[in-house]
Amino acid sequence: MSDTLEWLALARGTLDRAALKRRDEAWLEAAWADESTRVLVVESGQALVRFDPGPKLFLVSPQEAPEGDRYFLGIDDKDIAYFAVTAPLPAVEDAQPAGLRRVGALLEDLDSGLLTHAVALEHWHATNGFCPRCGTASTIASAGHVRVCPNDGTEQFPRVDPAVIMLVQDDDGRILLARGPQWPEDRRSILAGFVEPGESLEQAVAREVYEEVGLAVRDVRYLGSQPWPLPQSLMIGFFARADGSLELRPDPEEILDAAWYTRDQLTEAIEAGQIVAPGPLSIAAQLIMRWYGGELPNMPPF
Ligand SMILES: [Zn+2]
Repeated sequence: MSDTLEWLALARGTLDRAALKRRDEAWLEAAWADESTRVLVVESGQALVRFDPGPKLFLVSPQEAPEGDRYFLGIDDKDIAYFAVTAPLPAVEDAQPAGLRRVGALLEDLDSGLLTHAVALEHWHATNGFCPRCGTASTIASAGHVRVCPNDGTEQFPRVDPAVIMLVQDDDGRILLARGPQWPEDRRSILAGFVEPGESLEQAVAREVYEEVGLAVRDVRYLGSQPWPLPQSLMIGFFARADGSLELRPDPEEILDAAWYTRDQLTEAIEAGQIVAPGPLSIAAQLIMRWYGGELPNMPPF
């Protein structure tokens, strides 16, 4: 298993982020004055979506946008600028509030990228309002991609927490699935965990697998990544092969159940209702599908 994943629900953004424009106040002002500019209103991780005929973000012009913090998201291939504004979602006929979990896999590429970027920034601003050095309330700069302390000039950049997620396979082609402590009884997935300070991604993969189920691994290989702003992770997907003993020793604080599955065993378990297939939004589902050779039975649409 070596080719990287081709489709990841939240890694499909098509905008040019045009980062150099973020500090160009004259350009930003002109873009905001242009009524062809599109604005996505976000509130607590949700935006308005029209589901008929297919899920599509409800965007407005700058003139129609409510007052709120403004983030520049980028420009499309027709030079249309896109912004997000944080404000209470307006009441719009035929549109409903929805977040990434519901529509992240269903939206078209452009919209999926807009919502992913906007809610990631919204969460970061909402939880990082003060200078980490002196505690003064910081202000938004760089069109929403920096916060600056007015007291000492400290700049903060949007934080992303890297997490590794790994499909562990044995020499017979079985994969390891496990259940986390807070999960529903029928939910299983592959192992994952946050990268620690001073650690490489490959080291994090090996450490997490050992901590969670007591296995050693080898052949750790990168397979793809997707932002996971739920609320602020980057999921980095790997393949790893179990090395040596296949005996599983789950850490009861992190893992309630862990087992090896062949394709037939997984198919049977899902069809018997013992396991619910993960939806296509997660990189876990995409990694499992890569191994499985296609869609799992009874996959939910999101
Ligand atoms: Zn400060």
